[in-house]
Amino acid sequence: MLSRTASCSCGQLRIQVEGEPQGVGLCHCFSCQRRTGSAFAELASFSAPFKIFGNATEYVRVGDQGAKFTFRFCPVCGTSLFHTEEGRNESVSVAVGAFADPSFPMPRVSIYDSRRHNWVQLPPGTTTFDRDPD
Ligand SMILES: [Zn+2]
Ligand SMILES: [Zn+2]
Repeated sequence: MLSRTASCSCGQLRIQVEGEPQGVGLCHCFSCQRRTGSAFAELASFSAPFKIFGNATEYVRVGDQGAKFTFRFCPVCGTSLFHTEEGRNESVSVAVGAFADPSFPMPRVSIYDSRRHNWVQLPPGTTTFDRDPD
């Protein structure tokens, strides 16, 4: 089976995932904008099993709908590499940029589209949600 590894910028923290992503999406929420320092986040979700190498620091954030997300970032370089949602430990969301793979499958959904910077153009056919559909 296809396996991919996403890495923080210093290489200390890595996550290895198996198979194709369940979904690839963009998130324009202000929390992701602040978390990444970018105009939006791009995340790919993968089913378990996944393997984590290195040490991660955790940050728990409660979403607008009350879901608890645990973000894992590298304590050395600060890359925000992946997160899980409480009660959904069978899947993980990984920062797409951390795969450093320009041929990675493109995003199909756009979350918190109401907070998208107005210069950002979505690929044709992208499904948009004003907020988090969960
Ligand atoms: Zn690092
Ligand atoms: Zn977000």
